[in-house]
Formats: sequence, C-alpha cells, structure tokens
Amino acid sequence: MSSAESTPTGPDLTQGIAEADLADGRMLAGHAGDETVLLARLGEEVFAISATCTHYSGPLAEGLMVGDTVRCPWHHACFSLRTGEALRAPALSPVSCWSVERRDGKLVVSGRKKTVPSRPGPGATSEPAPGRIVIVGGGAAGFAAAEMLRRERFQGSIAMLSDDTAPPVDRPNLSKDYLAGSAPEDWVALRPPQFYADHGIDLQLGARAVGIDAGSRTVALADGRTFAFDRLLLATGAEANRPAFPGSQLPHVFTLRTLADCRAIIERSKTARRVVVVGASFIGLEVAAALRARALQVDVVAPEARPMARILGAQLGDFVRALHEEHGVTFHLEDAVTSIDRERVVLKSGGSLQADLVVLGVGVHPRIGLAEAAALALDRGVLVDPELRTSAPGIFAAGDIARWPDPHSGERIRVEHWVVAERQGQTAARNMLGYHEPFDAVPFFWSQHYDVSINYVGHAETWDQIDVEGEVAARDCLLRYKRQGRVRAVASIYRDLESLKAELALERDVMPV
Ligand SMILES: Cc1cc2nc3c(=O)[nH]c(=O)nc-3n(C[C@H](O)[C@H](O)[C@H](O)COP(=O)(O)OP(=O)(O)OC[C@H]3O[C@@H](n4cnc5c(N)ncnc54)[C@H](O)[C@@H]3O)c2cc1C
Repeated sequence: MSSAESTPTGPDLTQGIAEADLADGRMLAGHAGDETVLLARLGEEVFAISATCTHYSGPLAEGLMVGDTVRCPWHHACFSLRTGEALRAPALSPVSCWSVERRDGKLVVSGRKKTVPSRPGPGATSEPAPGRIVIVGGGAAGFAAAEMLRRERFQGSIAMLSDDTAPPVDRPNLSKDYLAGSAPEDWVALRPPQFYADHGIDLQLGARAVGIDAGSRTVALADGRTFAFDRLLLATGAEANRPAFPGSQLPHVFTLRTLADCRAIIERSKTARRVVVVGASFIGLEVAAALRARALQVDVVAPEARPMARILGAQLGDFVRALHEEHGVTFHLEDAVTSIDRERVVLKSGGSLQADLVVLGVGVHPRIGLAEAAALALDRGVLVDPELRTSAPGIFAAGDIARWPDPHSGERIRVEHWVVAERQGQTAARNMLGYHEPFDAVPFFWSQHYDVSINYVGHAETWDQIDVEGEVAARDCLLRYKRQGRVRAVASIYRDLESLKAELALERDVMPV
C-alpha cells in the first residue's frame, strides 16, 4: 500500500481555485506549500483539512464525504471537516485544519488553523464523572478507550493493566509490513512511551489481572497488587490457539499475537529456509505473504478445500489461493498436521514437509477467564448490552471478547476486527462517562496479501447468494453477500469508494438489494 504522503499534486490552493470548480458535496485535493490539502464544500460552507489520513496516510480526497465528515478509502477512518478530529478509528490523531477565504470568486486557502478542542469536556453528561477508571487490556480496545477518555477531558485516574510486556502496538502490522521487514520499528507502537505519562495514563505492563471483585470494585493482579475502580473496562482480547498434536510446543513452532511473538518469528526467519504455515485463514496467509517477502519457502497446510472460503466465499477463496501461488506459496489443502519434529511436519495424508520454522495460524479464543471468574454473563464471549455494559454494574467490555447486539443484523455477534475493537473502546469510554451511546457501527475489517487489500463491511456468518460485480481475477470487484434477499456484507478489491458507500448504506439500513 503506497503512502499518500508524497509530493503534493493538484492546484496550489494558496493561489485559489474558482468557486464554481467545487460543487456542493464535493471534495478536491490540492496543496498549500508542500502539504496536501483537501477542500470540501457543504452548501455555502467550505472546509480545508490535511488530505492525508493519520492512520496509514490514505488519500482522504478519494474517500467519501458524509455531511461535514470525510471517510478514508483505505481503512474507513472518519474525520470532522470542521475540526479535523478523528471521529472514528482506526485513525486516532486529528488532521490539521486550514482557513479558507473567498476572494474575487475564488476559494483561497490562507493559513493553518490553531487546533481548537472540539469536545464539550467534563460535565457534558448529567451523570457525575467517575473518579477511577481501570482498563484491563493494552490492545486495540483498551488503548482507544484510554485515549478517548482523555480526549473527553476526563479528569480522574486511568490505570491500564496489560499482561503484555510491550506497550499497545499496531497489531495488524505484525502479520504484514513489520513481519515482512518493510515497516520501520517506529510504526509499531500506537504511541511513543511518553504519551502515557503525558496523558496521565498509568500503563502497567507485565501486569496480569487474576480476579475482579465486582462488589468491592477492585481488580487483583497476579503480583498481589489491587486496583480500585469506579468503572472497569474489560478488553482482554484473544489468544492464539495452539493445537495439542505432538511437537506443537517445540521451540521452532510459533503462534502470532504479540510483538514478542512477531519478533521471535522474525529472528527465526533469519536462519530458517523452509516454513510451514498451519492454517489458511487471515493470519496464516498474511504470514505466508510476509515470509515470502523474506524469501523463505512457504508451504501452507489447512483442512479446508479453499482458503478463506468460509468467510469470503468460493470466488475470493480461489482468488486468494491463486494470488499466493503466483508468489510461490505451495498449498496442502484438505489436509492436517499430525505431528511436528525438529525437521519435519507430518501430514494426515501421509506425507511430510521439511520445516525449520512453523507458524500456527489456527484461530484464536477470546480471553474470558477473568469475566468468567467474576460471574459475568457469558455466551461464547462476554455478553454486553447496546452500550457495551456487562451484566455487572460499572463493568464494560469491548473488543474481541465482547458479544454485542448488532442493530444491523439483528443478531448478537462477536468479531475479531481491529477497527471494531477500537471503536468499541471509544464507545465504552464515553459510556463510562455517562453518554449512553449505543454501539451501532457496521463491522469493518481488511486483510492484506502482497499488494492486494481485501476490504469487508458488514457481517455475514452465512449467506445464500453472492453477487459478484466486476472481475475478481482482475482485482477489481465488489461481492455482495446476501441472505434471504438482503445484503448482509460487502467485500471488495480496489473498489474503496464503493466499499465506503456500502458501509454507509448498511449503517443506514438502506442497502439496495
Ligand atoms: C497478527 C495479527 C494481525 C491482525 N490483522 C488484522 C487486520 O488486518 N484487520 C483486522 O480487522 N484485524 C486484524 N487482527 C485482529 C485484531 O488485532 C484484533 O481484533 C484486535 O487486536 C482486538 O483488540 P482487543 O483490544 O480486543 O484485544 P487485543 O488487541 O488482543 O488486546 C488485549 C490486551 O489484553 C491484555 N490481557 C489479556 N488478558 C489479560 C489479563 N488477564 N490481565 C492483563 N492484561 C490482559 C493483553 O496482553 C493485550 O494487551 C489481527 C490480529 C493479529 C494477532
């Protein structure tokens, strides 16, 4: 994915453009000096903001304007055109805003505005603010919650307890550019270390929570410490499955969830020559692509007939398989691993594969042990209401562990998507402050394989029809997953604007059939 942070193109907006060149509801990209600036018009109002998404530098001008907001085409972040605020994850930092003047029938970008805080601040709700908020989890949901609490100008204490030894990281990168060796080290941490102290976030690393006393409102750590809370967010995420076949614990057999896991795989890949990836779903195949970039020989073993078909259907499954084969990956499908030794992976079909590195990508399970011990209501995850409250007063849950009532599908769902976890963290943060907002975002995820990104909006655990628009093999397609005549989800390749439009239609429940 190339960055939009390149030499600015388009008109020099400091010289202005004719007003007539920017119709109502339209956006265009130009530049002010060497900065790319997006100009957008809503009725008589004209806005100018930085044109580059603060998540992965996506080109906002190629996104979708929705009222006074713009959504990024790459991973569906959303910014306010008025204030530059990152309204929806995955972007968390604002973009800068510029002043626009009307001069002689022209729209002229004059200067960069001073950032103005847009949030109403403490006391914005009728409920008294809690004094102490504890977050268990230093991942997507936990981090986004802490960041949002401070954005909301929450004045009380925030303790973030994480049993990871690394501060919150950009986890999706761990199976993509970072693993492939093409991302610099400073892309990985979500924020530099001083962010936590600067924002009064007491980040406790290597801190494993082992018990919650919902009555006395305390969290106990394995090291004996306790943290008292007025509100608690559980955001403990998921853990990679490690099957029990002989050899699955050998030192050259890895799972991938944490930065430490990723670094261990990278270290091993420096001397390894042949890797077997077990599992042909998102993580397994992203790992396959990343390790091909490191010139390892890659074999993928998986039980299904088509990679990813259970989530994406046969058409995309065949495409993904062909894409990986073009890049030199060898598949061993409808097969399984029965054992691993120091040199070989033995297959159920009878053969064996040489391997000096094995990566297990065979799914995850939500980390619900704490919630279970605290007797919270569970159903293959932690049950939450529309405001992400668990069954215990004052305790919220978000991210991979949360099963919430999705207003769009009408079902209780639990997903394992980065953007959903972050957005839930943000909603939970506001609700801990008394906002009473339902979580109603349409699920979104992306998966990256070589230069192809698959974007997916909506939720279709099953479907009875897939309509394919465009051509999958030509990497230019949009697939609609339908059940009982209704579109439940849309997957796309290189049709980013249409993916955004589908997200909006699903959000508003006005998706055409
Ligand atoms: C390699 C990889 C690539 C991915 N790529 C994508 C992608 O491309 N697109 C996408 O949509 N999704 C992707 N995902 C999924 C996405 O990362 C998750 O959905 C997301 O991280 C979930 O956020 P979370 O906050 O619920 O959990 P996590 O991010 O896993 O964070 C959980 C946190 O809780 C901590 N914790 C757990 N139990 C305890 C305890 N008892 N005490 C203290 N701390 C505890 C953990 O240490 C961790 O800090 C990927 C996941 C992985 C592993």
